[in-house]
Amino acid sequence: MGIVVQKFGGTSVATPRKIHDAARKVIAAKLAGKQVVVVVSAMGHTTDDLINLAHGVCPNPPKRELDQLLATGEQVTIALIAMALHAQGHEAISLTGGQIGLLTDSAHSKARIREIDKRRIQKELATGRIVIVAGFQGITEKGDITTLGRGGSNATLVALGAVLKAEVCENYTDVDGIFTADPRIVSDARKIDRISYDEMMELSSVGAGVLQTRAVEFARKYNVPIHVRNSAHEGPGTWIVAETQAMEHIVVSGCALKKDLTRVTLKNVPDRPGIVARIFTAVADEKIIVDDIIQNVLDDRTANISFTVEYGDVADLQPVIERLLAELGGSATYEKDLARVSVVGVGMKQQTGVAGAMFRALADAKINIQNISTSEIRISCIVARKDAEKALRAVHAAFNLGKKSPA
Ligand code: ASP
Ligand code: MG
Repeated sequence: MGIVVQKFGGTSVATPRKIHDAARKVIAAKLAGKQVVVVVSAMGHTTDDLINLAHGVCPNPPKRELDQLLATGEQVTIALIAMALHAQGHEAISLTGGQIGLLTDSAHSKARIREIDKRRIQKELATGRIVIVAGFQGITEKGDITTLGRGGSNATLVALGAVLKAEVCENYTDVDGIFTADPRIVSDARKIDRISYDEMMELSSVGAGVLQTRAVEFARKYNVPIHVRNSAHEGPGTWIVAETQAMEHIVVSGCALKKDLTRVTLKNVPDRPGIVARIFTAVADEKIIVDDIIQNVLDDRTANISFTVEYGDVADLQPVIERLLAELGGSATYEKDLARVSVVGVGMKQQTGVAGAMFRALADAKINIQNISTSEIRISCIVARKDAEKALRAVHAAFNLGKKSPA
């Protein structure tokens, strides 16, 4: 019997009525002959509310305790979904991350999944029950509760899909799928029907909400298709699948924006083997993600090294930088209010001129490009935060990604 793993995000379980709607989708899959495992997020804005609550009590809450608190959000939802299923005449059991042995490392607030013990889930499925699992949470070897980072229920979804060898991971959310750009910013953004894992990973790493990069990476590794779809209707959403030949013809699949970046520049650090390694190891040890790294070697045997981080990471980063500078010499500057606009598409591997077209679009919109970075299937430009939305619209139009003229 095929297994389907369904996930309902916070907005799809925000009220008792929506919980019953979600339960109906679960039952439909069950009646279609599937074994169904359901992953849920905390109801509505519960996670944000809990974070605010924590900060009302303690300005900088210990991360272990914050995880302990945040994990309660999902625990509420699993019990309610199981009750809704019971009310609709179906057998279900709710399980926490700890109860399914979802083992993580001990990086509280952004833990990584190490393994899942699928025996409990399989045992429950074998008795004909629907299994409801709390997303976003796990447990360390020592038995401490961890969380997987904001949006982490998707990681739970995909990890379960992989270990259970599910036919599909259905990601129910409040949007119709993945769009060529954020429809709140670009009014003619179009829903994408199919997109490759690689493109989706690039898109989510450069700011397309919906799915964490990590979750997609996992799906690719185990080749589990993800279907992102709207819980409000039955229509198809976006399938995230392995790359097919047909996809190569699409030069640019989508574009995305990441706002609120800060550029950190370390000035006049020694230009010697090992220095850059030392800097970025120290930053990585804080689990801070850096991007857009540039090094310029100066005449006096020192170098300027700059990189971007999310503004929210600056507070954690500053003490690390201060320690490094005390050791290495040099100084640091922090430039806030930057954004990165990116275009992504597997067709770029074959097609030339994509970078030129993107730069032209930004130039025509009178937007200054501050920095450029690329991968095989992505081009990104750093621009001023105030130009961010305009930049996204300009690039989206330049590649004809809109509804009226599908690329
Ligand atoms: N409830 C958590 C959050 O809001 C996890 C999730 O929704 O995926 O980030
Ligand atoms: Mg949520």
